[in-house]
Amino acid sequence: MEERDAGAVAAAPARSRKRLEKVYIPDHLVEQIRNASDIVEVISGYLPLKRRGREFIALCPFHSEKTPSFNVIPHKQIFYCFGCQKGGDVFKFLCEYESISYPEAIQRMAERAGIEIEYEQGSDSQERARRETLYRIQEEFTLYWHEQLLQGTEAQIARDYLSRRGVSEQSILDFRLGYSPLAWEDTIRKAEELKLDFELLVESGLAIQKEGRGDGYGRFRGRLMFPIADNQGRVIGFSARALHPEDSKMGKYVNSPESPLFHKSSVVFGLDRAKREIIEKRCAIICEGQLDLIACHAAGFKNTVAPQGTAFTLEQARSLKRLAPELILCFDGDEAGQNAAVKALDTFLAADLTARVVFLPAGSDPDSYIQTHGAEAFGELISRAREFFDFYLTRLAQQNNKDSDRGRRQIVQAMGEALLKANQPLLTDTYAQKTAQLLGVNPQTILEEFALCKKPQFPTTYRFETQEQTAGPDAAEEKAFAPPSLREQWLLVLFLMNEAEWDWLAQGFQPEWVQHRHIREIIVTALDQYSAGEYSPHQLLHSFPDPFSQRLLCAAMAEDPQKIPEPALQLQKLVLALRSQHCEQLLHSLNQSLTAPGLSIDEQTELLQQKERIRQIRNSPLFGV
Ligand code: ZN
Repeated sequence: MEERDAGAVAAAPARSRKRLEKVYIPDHLVEQIRNASDIVEVISGYLPLKRRGREFIALCPFHSEKTPSFNVIPHKQIFYCFGCQKGGDVFKFLCEYESISYPEAIQRMAERAGIEIEYEQGSDSQERARRETLYRIQEEFTLYWHEQLLQGTEAQIARDYLSRRGVSEQSILDFRLGYSPLAWEDTIRKAEELKLDFELLVESGLAIQKEGRGDGYGRFRGRLMFPIADNQGRVIGFSARALHPEDSKMGKYVNSPESPLFHKSSVVFGLDRAKREIIEKRCAIICEGQLDLIACHAAGFKNTVAPQGTAFTLEQARSLKRLAPELILCFDGDEAGQNAAVKALDTFLAADLTARVVFLPAGSDPDSYIQTHGAEAFGELISRAREFFDFYLTRLAQQNNKDSDRGRRQIVQAMGEALLKANQPLLTDTYAQKTAQLLGVNPQTILEEFALCKKPQFPTTYRFETQEQTAGPDAAEEKAFAPPSLREQWLLVLFLMNEAEWDWLAQGFQPEWVQHRHIREIIVTALDQYSAGEYSPHQLLHSFPDPFSQRLLCAAMAEDPQKIPEPALQLQKLVLALRSQHCEQLLHSLNQSLTAPGLSIDEQTELLQQKERIRQIRNSPLFGV
């Protein structure tokens, strides 16, 4: 296998990448890009794949599991997980894994393969050009401020600060830290030099327009600049720390405002750099600040990220969940830190993550802890992280008097509510025992008490996001989607593995024999493509972008034909059975019509003739059978 991998693509410099949203890419080009993007090569850039027979397997990155059910099938160029039913082609994998749009995934693979996509003219391309410029502005200023920090005389204050904080030269280079000069007009001057549009500079959040005037000034002045990148490593905003005492009234930290690129609630600082390691370690360490994160990375804990801002949001939790099933929350051991840990509970449970917690000695953060005690001691601490519910139970016991009836009730109630949110019977059972032990009662009693706890609602903020999630077009369809019968699922499997039977099917098969809309449409489309000489598994997948058809198709394609005896014969029998079933239903309804009162002789004759025709169809051989 070639050494190129998709991870390297993800880290490519931002300026070579064009942003795609609503772009039309001709089918032949999509095909060309797909042919150049071997699915095994691409996915193995993200996950360790193990060969098993003709296929490759791995632990699924989309759900948590202990034995691999994620399959990559090279000869069909698809992936499919038997556990969570996610599947699709190479582009689909990228969409799911990197949370990017389908066109973006195509674009990424095109870049990887060195295939040029030509863009059409029009408003879409204008919009794209605008976004491109916004990315360019962030990138240009990252470079400019980085240079200032490394060489500018004025930046001595920043260099001194970093050396006091023990940030190494290497970390400064790795994280492209910067310094924004103090002068009000410096950002504007630099933008003019770079020929950047003033309006876009304001939109990017780097400059502020003076009220009612055509000019403005830089937002960040005399600050230490931390570039914030998206998951693909493109800079989308900054976090800026005050260095000059007169500036700190603006706040110790100032972040980029919300912009078309920067959405504070979804950004996870350092995720672009930590992604690989999080996948490998199957766990992400969460710390609070940028300097903590840099210290952790420098000490070798490269699976560390920091939520942007103080609260850990559901969106952030979801992007982590895609990479690993577990979080280690790293908090200050003081009262505020312990409260923050409790507050994070709803968020990680809502994202279906498990969490452990590490408390540092009160008043210290990962940065200062590593400086004082060294990386090894910090590693010790991480490895001894406590299960979240253990910590929670201890905390409840500290906060409530377990010798009073009221205190005991409160402990059981709070514990029961938290476990209900987690909704894992094993966990509930384990902690019923621990709670029982703590209170000196029978575990069965605690389990019964837990069962009485009312299932709490997630706080409004989370509920809002959940609603938004379920309100998407996919979700609406998901509700409307009823899974096909086992028989029709099996039909699709047999159909796809028996291309040799398609000649007679193309002539003799009637769509109405199949009840499930998605299966029916897939088969009809495949036969049409086949008759036109245009069929390929990719082409078929490409024709059904909706998630349900994708899932049905991939599930069917992932079945191993070698495990199915006499597939052609089975297919013939099944098609016949479906035809019979359909005919019986028609006959039944015709019989009902015949019993209706007041039928004319002509009507009766017509119905009887229809019955006869259907009987003939039912009893006639199928083509080739
Ligand atoms: Zn899965």
